[in-house]
Amino acid sequence: MANKIPRVPVREQDPKVRVTNFEEVCYGYNIEEAQLEASRCLDCKKPRCVTACPVSIQIPQFIEQVVAGNFAEAARIIAQDSSLPSVCGRVCPQESQCEGSCVLGVKGEPVAIGKLERFVGDWNIEHGDKDVQKPALNGYKVAVIGSGPSGLACASDLAKMGYQVKIFEALHKAGGVLEYGIPEFRLPKSKIVAKEIENVTKLGVEIETDVIVGRTVTIDELMDNEGYSAVFIGSGAGLPRFMGIPGENLNGVVSANEFLTRANLMKAYDEEYDTPIYVGKRVVVVGGGNVAMDAVRTAARLGAEAFIMYRRSEAELPARVEEVHHAKEEGIQFRMLTNPVEVIGDDKGWVKGLRCVKMELGEPDASGRRSPIEVPGSEFDIECDVVIMALGTSPNPLIASTTEGLETNRKGCLVANDETGQTSREGIFAGGDTVTGAATVILAMGAGRRAAKAIDEYIKNKK
Ligand SMILES: Cc1cc2nc3c(=O)[nH]c(=O)nc-3n(C[C@H](O)[C@H](O)[C@H](O)COP(=O)(O)OP(=O)(O)OC[C@H]3O[C@@H](n4cnc5c(N)ncnc54)[C@H](O)[C@@H]3O)c2cc1C
Ligand code: SF4
Repeated sequence: MANKIPRVPVREQDPKVRVTNFEEVCYGYNIEEAQLEASRCLDCKKPRCVTACPVSIQIPQFIEQVVAGNFAEAARIIAQDSSLPSVCGRVCPQESQCEGSCVLGVKGEPVAIGKLERFVGDWNIEHGDKDVQKPALNGYKVAVIGSGPSGLACASDLAKMGYQVKIFEALHKAGGVLEYGIPEFRLPKSKIVAKEIENVTKLGVEIETDVIVGRTVTIDELMDNEGYSAVFIGSGAGLPRFMGIPGENLNGVVSANEFLTRANLMKAYDEEYDTPIYVGKRVVVVGGGNVAMDAVRTAARLGAEAFIMYRRSEAELPARVEEVHHAKEEGIQFRMLTNPVEVIGDDKGWVKGLRCVKMELGEPDASGRRSPIEVPGSEFDIECDVVIMALGTSPNPLIASTTEGLETNRKGCLVANDETGQTSREGIFAGGDTVTGAATVILAMGAGRRAAKAIDEYIKNKK
């Protein structure tokens, strides 16, 4: 029986070697491995994996095509619901989505849906149809702000419908967090991200970088003077949070966003670039999400002894299970149930340590996770020369503050309809992290696609 086959392991770089380089950790499946793994799927009548996928990819259908060796058809099936399979196959939290609900996981190991999606996406990048037909233009222009997953997904769907789409991106390179946040060793830039962006531009989407909407140009100017019939805001949540503890402004304290942007976007890890990055000898990364794991593993690759400090226990770590596992294999040290209360500096204003307290878990809070409570009298110091804060991010207020009538909530996120992305301003739609706060690639992509549909309806109804 198909489900008697054990899950096919995926080949990875040796941890001792990979912690000295920035090459991709996971090699992915080859054709034989992918087909063997795909043959484990039971093709359930009511596939729980599909219900658990935020964009309802037709999982058993694409897997069936992998078994049959029809990889182009598998790619076509995934493309109906996802425009970034090579990215999502690598970074989606499958253990809490599709794979977490796979029926095979009840008594054994779920089908490796993420690795199969990645295999199909990569196959398609290498062998798929390169001649994309540019759709005939319908005469309407739409502006997209931000080139992360939400903006790219929205732009490509609109272009396929015949709209003339232009993406305005603040940074000098497109891709959003895929380019500046998630490191090369998890998501290769030229092999994967650039190719996904190329697919969008092949549809006729123009990307203008180095344009900060709200400074270089405003949304109202785009709509009133430049002829855009609608605008989609996919500007993400790039504003880092800090703890507000004493010593946080010492030299050597940085946000994970800044640290990762220097390393990824500005290639500080590559000797051919002269981007400065200060890593020190001992680095403590405060936080427990994907961003914290990326920062700590980057610090280790840059030569530091690297620690994660998290105020809850390992069971509550919000990072993907695979990232935590990889971090441990790479020698990252975990200080759980620990919280910093002060950054200690030397007489020249540089970090020399962290004052911490021990925590214990109390009753569940609003997030459903047990809340951390300080253990009285548990203060202790640890030595370090760099502290990286990875405590979450919120949307930059620039766009809301320069666009009259654009409503935000108390967390600074844009208020938009869940289904359509419609904001409080006519003709302006939004989706992704700028609406939800920091979330996931797949949710941002889904929001961008739903907004594209709503923008099309809005423009058609206005004609
Ligand atoms: C380090 C890190 C690791 C992550 N790991 C994972 C993971 O493993 N799995 C997962 O699913 N998710 C992960 N995430 C979260 C995921 O990347 C985001 O949820 C997703 O990228 C959000 O997409 P978005 O399109 O809303 O915004 P973003 O990807 O943030 O893109 C927004 C873009 O808008 C641009 N922009 C902002 N303001 C303006 C302006 N005024 N004018 C013009 N352009 C502007 C920004 O420069 C940026 O390029 C991670 C995030 C980070 C930071
Ligand atoms: S739940 Fe698992 S076995 Fe069933 S269709 Fe989905 S991937 Fe296949």
